[in-house]
Amino acid sequence: MASPNQYFVLIVPACAALLGVAMIYCWSRLRDHRYLLWIGSGYIATAIPMGIHSLMPNELLARWTLPLSSLYLLGVWTMAHGVAMRFGGRAHTGWAWLIIILTLGLLFFFSRVDDDLWLRLQILNLGLALLVALPAKSILYGRTPTLPLRTLLRASYLTVLLYAFTRVAVLAAVIPKEMQPELTRSGFWLLMLATNMLISIWLALAILTSTAMSIVQTLDHERSRDPLTRLLNRRAFFEQVQKRLELYGHSGWAVLTCDLDHFKMVNDTWGHAAGDRALKEFGALLARTVRQDDLAARFGGEEFVLLIRSASLHTAVLVAERLRSSVMNLHIPATAHTLTASFGVVQLSSNGDINQAIEQADRLLYEAKHAGRNKVIWKAS
Ligand code: GH3
Ligand code: MG
Ligand code: MG
Repeated sequence: MASPNQYFVLIVPACAALLGVAMIYCWSRLRDHRYLLWIGSGYIATAIPMGIHSLMPNELLARWTLPLSSLYLLGVWTMAHGVAMRFGGRAHTGWAWLIIILTLGLLFFFSRVDDDLWLRLQILNLGLALLVALPAKSILYGRTPTLPLRTLLRASYLTVLLYAFTRVAVLAAVIPKEMQPELTRSGFWLLMLATNMLISIWLALAILTSTAMSIVQTLDHERSRDPLTRLLNRRAFFEQVQKRLELYGHSGWAVLTCDLDHFKMVNDTWGHAAGDRALKEFGALLARTVRQDDLAARFGGEEFVLLIRSASLHTAVLVAERLRSSVMNLHIPATAHTLTASFGVVQLSSNGDINQAIEQADRLLYEAKHAGRNKVIWKAS
C-alpha cells in the first residue's frame, strides 16, 4: 500500500499532466502551433510513469521497467522534438530511436537478467539526458528571428539540459548503491520530483507565453496589412510614418503616390480576378523595390503611397522612374495586358506633415494622368 506521503508526491505528475493537457488544448484551438501538441504529449507521457513510479512498491519496479521507461523516453523525445520545432529546427529522429533502443536494451538486461535498480536509474537518466541534448544545436544556433522570447526559451531549455545531466552525475556520485531499495521513498527522490516540477512549470510557462506573443504578433501584422497585396494599409502606414519620423527626423524623406492607369479597363476586359492578380503583382513589385527604411502602402483601390528615405528628390524620382518601367514588364497571368502607372513625387517638408505631402503628390499624379498617363511628375518644395 502507498502511504499518504506518496499520494502527496502525485502532485508533481498531476501538474505535468495538466500542463500537457493545457498545451494540447491550446494546440487544438490554434492548429498552426503544432509544437504544442508534441510538447503537451511529452508532458503527459512522462507524467504517467512518474506517477506510477511514485506509488509502485520496489518489488514490482524490475517487472515494469520496460513499459515505464519506454514512456519516459518517448515522452522526453516528443517534448524535445516539439521544442526543436518551435525553434524551426530538428530533433534528429534517427539518433533518438538509436538512443531509445539502446537504453531499452540495457534496461532489459539489468531488469530481467541482472536485476540492478541503481544501474537502471543511471542508464535511464543518461538516455533521457541524451534525448534532451538532441535538439540543442537547433536551439542554440537556429535562425528564427521572429520567435518571441527566444533568449528566455533558449535559457529555459539549456536549464532542462543542464538539469538532465546533473541528475545523471548526482545519481552516480551521491546515491550509494545500498540505498536503492528505498530510493523512491527517499528525500533525494522527493527533491528530484520537486526540481522536475519547478523546471517543467517554468518551461511550460515560457513556451505558452511565447505562443501568446506569437499570436499577438500575427494579429498585429494582419491588422496592419492589406489582405490582397500584403502591403501596409492606410492606418498602419500613418503609424509607421510617425515612428520613422521620430526615429530619423523630418528631413531626407520623399513621398511618392501612384495609381494604375485605366485599371477599370483591366477589370472590364479580363475580369475582376485578373484585376486582383494585377494588383498583387504590382504590390509585390513595390515590396521588392523599397528598401528597409522605406514604407509601401495600398491606400485603397489601385492607389498606392510610398515613403522613401532619400537625401534628394532626384533619388526618389529615379525610384519612381524605375518602378514606372518595371510595371510595364509585369506579367499578369491569364491576360495580355501591359500595365502602366502614373506617379507623383514630392519631398517631405521640414514640418513633417505627411498629409500635406500626400496631397501635393496626388496633385502631381493627377497632372501625370492629364499629361497622358505612364509618367512621373515631381516638384521640388
Ligand atoms: P485612371 O487611369 O484615370 O486611373 O483610370 P482607372 O480606370 O484606373 O480609374 P478609376 O478610378 O475610374 O478606376 C479604378 C478601378 O479600380 C475601378 C475599380 O473597379 C478597380 N478596383 C478598385 N479596387 C479593386 C480591387 O481590389 N480589385 C479589382 N480587381 N479592381 C479594383
Ligand atoms: Mg487608376
Ligand atoms: Mg484610382
